[in-house]
Amino acid sequence: MAFIRRKPLAKLALTPLRYGFRSCRTPGVGVSEANKGQSMAHYDLIVIGSGPAGKRGAIQAAKLNKKVLVVERGKRIGGVSVHTGTIPSKTLRETVLNLTGWRERGFYGRAYRAKKEIGAEDLRKRLAITLDHEVDVLEHQFSRNGVEMVEGAARFIDANTVEVQGSRGEAIRYTAERILIAVGTKPYRPGHIGFDGENILDSDEILEIKRIPRQLVVVGASVIGVEYASIFSALDVKVTIIEPNSGLMPFLDRELADEFVHDLRERGVIIRFGAKVVSAEVVGPQQCRLKLTDDRELTADMVLFSAGREGATDGLDLAAAGLEPDPRGRLVVDKATFQTSVGHIYAAGDIIGFPSLASTSMEQGRIAACHAFAAPAHAAPEFFPYGIYSVPEISMIGISEEQAREKGIAYECGVARFRETSRGHIMGIQSGFMKMLFALETRRLLGVHIVGEGATELIHIGQAVLNLEGTLDYFVENTFNYPTLAEAYKVAALDAWNRMPRTQPSRIVAAQALERARKAIAG
Ligand SMILES: Cc1cc2nc3c(=O)[nH]c(=O)nc-3n(C[C@H](O)[C@H](O)[C@H](O)COP(=O)(O)OP(=O)(O)OC[C@H]3O[C@@H](n4cnc5c(N)ncnc54)[C@H](O)[C@@H]3O)c2cc1C
Repeated sequence: MAFIRRKPLAKLALTPLRYGFRSCRTPGVGVSEANKGQSMAHYDLIVIGSGPAGKRGAIQAAKLNKKVLVVERGKRIGGVSVHTGTIPSKTLRETVLNLTGWRERGFYGRAYRAKKEIGAEDLRKRLAITLDHEVDVLEHQFSRNGVEMVEGAARFIDANTVEVQGSRGEAIRYTAERILIAVGTKPYRPGHIGFDGENILDSDEILEIKRIPRQLVVVGASVIGVEYASIFSALDVKVTIIEPNSGLMPFLDRELADEFVHDLRERGVIIRFGAKVVSAEVVGPQQCRLKLTDDRELTADMVLFSAGREGATDGLDLAAAGLEPDPRGRLVVDKATFQTSVGHIYAAGDIIGFPSLASTSMEQGRIAACHAFAAPAHAAPEFFPYGIYSVPEISMIGISEEQAREKGIAYECGVARFRETSRGHIMGIQSGFMKMLFALETRRLLGVHIVGEGATELIHIGQAVLNLEGTLDYFVENTFNYPTLAEAYKVAALDAWNRMPRTQPSRIVAAQALERARKAIAG
């Protein structure tokens, strides 16, 4: 039975209310032939999926006083972000760094361990607590904003009607003026990989492991693959990464990617570029064999396949709504409004492809809801930060050195190594750096690229300056807390300043010159 959760929150889990047969259809709304004679609940907005895009879209619409229903087929709300993606992987990372004492190894050596024996149960324990908190907060947000929820898998009956099938097979239909598709993605599982849920796993299943592997092969140096590879390497698991391309994550600034690859190799991670996996199979207890296109074979006791994801549109019956997904199950939308080819049906989040981040998905959901109900919404700024929670972290905003060259922009770079900052000394940091790009002509900040401790937090300083069209002078003239890793901004800016033409004095220097001139005239 599909059920709807309504306020108050305390009662939700205990007494789910039936709602589907109460008629609240507003006059004039089209009802399909299939639904004639059946009473249906009617909404201003039905949101399919309760991940970041669906959540933010639903809450935004509710804040505009709209009647909103969120349909979620998972057992708990939150989507991939809360249950199998962003939050679990980041929790796992934090757990591993804490239990291994990773951040202390700069002082106490590579053999240092905060906890001597670390088992899979140690990793899962913290995960469960974090996820419970996240779901609690989400349920509270929905409840506070009067967003209704129904558990079950949605499929289109027509462009205004959605049927929700509960876990016991009962189907209830709902109609809406507007629909937001925020169904996200699922791991790509090609036939030549012998997934068994225990030894050969996708990125959802890796969170459920019952043992920590001795050797892990990660197929695909995607963001997800690299995050897990580096997290398991921090646990002293022998990790091999197989990647068909000639480098890691081609969208990264090359200098940064090279530093990261060097760091991984220093730690014993083997990276095999230029080879594809032909087959992966379990050949014995805790024994997997992989065949590569270059005729080589690999064995390991665990394999993580993380080469791509595909849209979770199967079962949605998009054709009934007049929509067609692309071959990877994704939907095309107007990038400004997030409308699909059917005007009142919107799509946001991973289902529309790049950049496929929880952070951007939330913004897309919000903008879609604003557009749907004619509320003003500022467009997302051109530049948004990208965070990769590997060990060490990577984050960037703006353009890379390669892109600056491609675009023919004259630029200068400044670099700061964390080990050269006082905070770095205090923390025992031995690697990591920040690189900034400035336009030679205007001195404007063009890009910030960071690899190392705190990269995903530090990047927001660069983001603010970049999106507010700030220049090198901001970093040179402003005082930063000391000792901090953020001081790297100043160091990198001064490094660039050393090589920048002196034709344009900074504002302070110019003001001082003006003051001197005034005094000279006056006196
Ligand atoms: C391992 C991993 C790590 C990640 N790390 C980060 C990170 O560090 N930072 C970051 O910004 N992003 C990260 N991401 C990406 C992030 O998780 C996604 O961008 C985000 O979850 C997408 O949100 P969404 O709203 O599009 O959909 P999702 O979060 O995928 O949620 C979609 C929901 O729709 C539901 N659904 C699907 N079909 C139906 C149906 N027919 N009926 C009802 N419900 C349905 C699903 O059950 C699911 O709950 C990571 C992803 C993965 C896999």
